Amino acid sequence: MRRVRFDLDDAEIKPYFPLEAMVAAAFDCATRLFGISFVERRDLVAYHPDVRVYEVHGASSLIGVFLHDNFARPTKRSGAWMSEYRTQSRNGGATVLPIVVNNNNFAKAAPGEPTLLSFDDARTLFHEFGHGLHGLLSNVRYERLASTNVLRDFVELPSQLFEHWLDEPEVLKRHARHHRTGEAIPDALIAKLQRARHFNQGYETLRYTASAMVDMAIHARTSSEPVDIVEFERAELARIGLPHGVGVNHRLVHFQHLFSGGYAAGYYVYLWAEVLDADGYDAFIEAGDPFDPVVARRVARFIYSAGNSIEPGAAYRAFRGRDAIAEPMLRERGLLETVAT
Ligand SMILES: [Zn+2]
Repeated sequence: MRRVRFDLDDAEIKPYFPLEAMVAAAFDCATRLFGISFVERRDLVAYHPDVRVYEVHGASSLIGVFLHDNFARPTKRSGAWMSEYRTQSRNGGATVLPIVVNNNNFAKAAPGEPTLLSFDDARTLFHEFGHGLHGLLSNVRYERLASTNVLRDFVELPSQLFEHWLDEPEVLKRHARHHRTGEAIPDALIAKLQRARHFNQGYETLRYTASAMVDMAIHARTSSEPVDIVEFERAELARIGLPHGVGVNHRLVHFQHLFSGGYAAGYYVYLWAEVLDADGYDAFIEAGDPFDPVVARRVARFIYSAGNSIEPGAAYRAFRGRDAIAEPMLRERGLLETVAT
């Protein structure tokens, strides 16, 4: 359906997204936004030969070390994640610099061939790098409040916000170049990538939101009486009026994410983070420049550097000048026209 409606073919896209170029793109965006630079240290030995090690420099001094572990291997956990070997702090006068790692699981190309990413892979790279920047730019006193040690409904803001720079045509034109010819990605292909983001969003948004509302409802029960969980789910979906053909992502009886994954009453956070990142990125759109220095300074200070040292609502308002609104998220999902009619 996606191919028919949006004419998007990975084989057409991948030649423009070599891993090396996408890493350079992520670093370049961080340099243009935050004035930091990445210096590879091939002499520093990491835990596996595939891992690249970089010193990260601020305007005048070293601010941390970044490890990039991009390839799948048989002994490695699947998925993509950021973690830290050391977290930033400066308690008691001692400056502790962060050591941050980004893990991805891209399939490594044959020797001599470039590893080519799908657009989704490139997005994952930018997403995890956004978490990485949250650790590297952290500038607080206490380790407990540093880096990604923030509330769960705030932690995906720095990562999802950073994904937006990958969507910028200017960034794509600069970095998404054909690995053989060096030709910049054609405008028509950029337009296709942007249109494809709207695929199935009405359905996905309803399905996800229904799950989030059922999660909230079951955790809002105040009675300790046993509940028929299947009937509870049915009644709640009827109450919110979920169309019959949509269904939910996960039935309550096997919703592990809530009951052993630690997301009880927190399934909403992914979409909420999208409200924040879409509204947050609009600050750059309103300024007329995806790298506007004034907005970049504010997002660095109140979002990427502040950890949990400022109450997150106050931090967001300090960055944006107001509370977040939902319209930018709806617009990005292609739902705003539907809402308006
Ligand atoms: Zn994330």
